[in-house]
Amino acid sequence: MLPTTVDVLIVGAGPTGLTMACELLRRGISCRILEKTAAPATTSRAIGLQARSLEVFANMSIVAPVLAQGVSGIRLNAYSGDDRVFTLDFRFLANETISYPYGVLLPQNLTEQILLDLLHQRGGRIERLREVLDLRQESEQVIATVKNLQEGSSEEIQAGWLIGCDGAHSRIRKAVGLAFEGSTYPEEFLLADVDLDWQRSHDEVHVWLHHEGQFAVMPLPGNHWRLIADIAAIPGVPVPAASLELLQCLLRERTGDTTTTISHSTWMSNFQIHRRLVTSYRKHRVFLAGDAAHVHSPFGGQGANTGIQDAFNLAWKLALVIHGKASDTLLDTYQEERRPVAQSVLAGTHFLTSVFYQKNPFIRMLRDGVVIPLLKRKDFQRRLLWQASELGINYRRSRLSQTYREAFIKRLTKGKGSSSVPHAGDRAPDGRCLRLPEREETTLFQEFQNPVAHLLLFDGCVQTEANYRHLIQLAHQVEVLVKDEIKVHLVVSKERPLDWDGSLLYDATHSMHKHYGAHIPSLFLIRPDGYIGLLCQPVREQPLIDYLQRFFQPSFLAGTIQSLHESTV
Ligand SMILES: Cc1cc2nc3c(=O)[nH]c(=O)nc-3n(C[C@H](O)[C@H](O)[C@H](O)COP(=O)(O)OP(=O)(O)OC[C@H]3O[C@@H](n4cnc5c(N)ncnc54)[C@H](O)[C@@H]3O)c2cc1C
Repeated sequence: MLPTTVDVLIVGAGPTGLTMACELLRRGISCRILEKTAAPATTSRAIGLQARSLEVFANMSIVAPVLAQGVSGIRLNAYSGDDRVFTLDFRFLANETISYPYGVLLPQNLTEQILLDLLHQRGGRIERLREVLDLRQESEQVIATVKNLQEGSSEEIQAGWLIGCDGAHSRIRKAVGLAFEGSTYPEEFLLADVDLDWQRSHDEVHVWLHHEGQFAVMPLPGNHWRLIADIAAIPGVPVPAASLELLQCLLRERTGDTTTTISHSTWMSNFQIHRRLVTSYRKHRVFLAGDAAHVHSPFGGQGANTGIQDAFNLAWKLALVIHGKASDTLLDTYQEERRPVAQSVLAGTHFLTSVFYQKNPFIRMLRDGVVIPLLKRKDFQRRLLWQASELGINYRRSRLSQTYREAFIKRLTKGKGSSSVPHAGDRAPDGRCLRLPEREETTLFQEFQNPVAHLLLFDGCVQTEANYRHLIQLAHQVEVLVKDEIKVHLVVSKERPLDWDGSLLYDATHSMHKHYGAHIPSLFLIRPDGYIGLLCQPVREQPLIDYLQRFFQPSFLAGTIQSLHESTV
């Protein structure tokens, strides 16, 4: 018998709800995940997993099956007939701070199965044929009315918090009275997953730009392909349903290819696209995540990724609050950080959808005369891919992002390429190093798999006794103060014996120092979701203490400060 009272009730077992459940269970939070359908969906839907989602999956330890089952897409080619108009190359992103400089094409049902396997490993399960009909909120709990669709009975479930991951038609969003503002695009799209008897490379996306509409072909596992074509809606004339004959005809017309045959369709569909954003991500004890909060054009493959990352952002915050270690205000940073991301995804996908799908001659002139020449430029491509891969998402404006730099450092870094070093709120870069004393190869992201915050203390290539004494003293203090929630790493530029038996990372090539801009002793507090919370140059205790006091509950810190005091007596 499952408890009717639970810390968190998750509604909907799509990629967002599954990620949320896995991340909460990982942090010891009791949760139930309700799903109204009887069985997992078998259709491919969202096939694009972006580089940042791959990093998130690596952190959750499921990137290996994703890479093994998916197709790594490294290039997108756009053509006009036989001419290649431009190529977007993900390899432009490649450097040692990025683990996956590509996207992966994997049908959504397979991504969901990988998340489901993880859920089972963590002791969770989806409760199917349970539909949440309504909810009411009290000061300390949410009470959901749930229909058992198998038996026809209803029950009430009490939860401390409820998360609506119930998709674009979210009943949770409606139950809490939040508006879903936006519009629907006039074009209709045809979609089919098929076989093609052509010889084009299977790790690239191919898109034909044609005055009647686009024809996009994306690789799927097993030498299968996803076709998408848009059809202009004519008022009063229904758009024909997707069929092999229709797509074969569009392939011929829009690509000029008269020899390739389309066959063996496993899924076909017509769809329209919407652009909508909820007015607020939170109403008291109810949160919205994924498509329940935002929907947009699939152009650029951002939809499922944005939902997965919503969940990854909220889960650690909610866990800290439920464990009584952080105050409720931490939860407001979920909306503060994630709604602007959705706004920017909506704006970006809207721009590209308008430029590439509208038939308006002026827009087409803009596309051919301005946008396409820009897309041919490497620097522009790098910027575009940085955004599309979602590696460029940052929370610089969040109240959780704090930079402390003394005046002389600001003067020192002024005009010295300081824009390329990370800021508080940016994704923390990855880096290769050796774990001492074993000299075992590791990466920062491997270390970050421990699902707590990480304090990186860089020696700044200042290899003096005084510097190491200072860093080690601070490291000891933090380990005692908040050891369950912050893992401390000393990042050293020289191998030498130190009075520190905690994590010691040797940056032999100094490349991690370079990528973090740690040209003097520096402190980086990395949040559990891999973003830089606090950046402090040079290393100072007070900004860290101030930050922790804002972040953690006084009762949690006071207890540990007491134990620190006792341990030093
Ligand atoms: C044809 C198609 C193609 C797409 N292509 C792409 C693409 O290429 N790239 C991309 O990024 N995105 C794409 N998307 C969008 C992508 O599928 C969604 O962004 C993604 O599924 C959102 O995940 P989610 O978990 O937030 O919501 P969903 O996947 O919609 O999951 C919501 C779940 O909640 C359940 N549910 C709903 N109401 C209740 C209730 N009251 N009680 C219990 N359970 C409930 C539903 O049954 C469902 O399982 C596509 C979507 C479609 C339909």
